[in-house]
This record gives sequence, structure tokens and C-alpha cells, in this order.
Amino acid sequence: MTPSYKMSFACFDCRKSFKREVDIYNVTLELTCPECGNTSYNFGRHFKPPKKSDKEQWNKVRYLKEHGFWFQKIRPDENSVDSIPYPDTLDEAKEFVNKYKDFALKLN
Ligand SMILES: [Zn+2]
Repeated sequence: MTPSYKMSFACFDCRKSFKREVDIYNVTLELTCPECGNTSYNFGRHFKPPKKSDKEQWNKVRYLKEHGFWFQKIRPDENSVDSIPYPDTLDEAKEFVNKYKDFALKLN
């Protein structure tokens, strides 16, 4: 059996997330949203979706994703078990993206 994790996929059109089992050796980054048929994105095991009505928070999530931050753990200090917490607001997200740009995912 292939190991798999339940991961959260988020759809910006529905402003919702849903969980799917994902093969950890061949992680799917995008899936079709079951509600609207648009693309949803894999934000991993620990993603907490904002409320559907909270557009500001969804804008922040979208901003992070567009800059290569898909809620992967950011650990500037390899000896530390703690990762950097993700920003709470869009303004903080802008600083965060700039500060940790070396950790951004490089996706095609
Ligand atoms: Zn959708």
C-alpha cells in the first residue's frame, strides 16, 4: 500500500476547502473543485480555511499561494523544530513573502 495523507485543497472561487487522500510520493498540487469545477490547490495537512465570508483572508491565502507559499513549513533555522508562523493579514503576508522568498516553492 502506498502511504497517503489527507490533505486540504482550497478553491478560491468557492472560498472553501475539502480533504482528499494524496499519495505522499507523488503529491497532487491541483485538483478540480467538486463544487464549481475550477482548480483547487493543495495546501497540505495543516491548512485552516478562512470563513467563506472572509474575503480579506482568502485574498491573503491567494497572495501567499501566488508567491510560492502553499502553507509548507518554513524553517530558516535547520536546528529548530519550530517553523515560522504564517501571517495573519495581507499586509503581514507582503512582508512575509519578501522576508522568506528563498523558501518559496518554485512551481511552473
Ligand atoms: Zn470551487
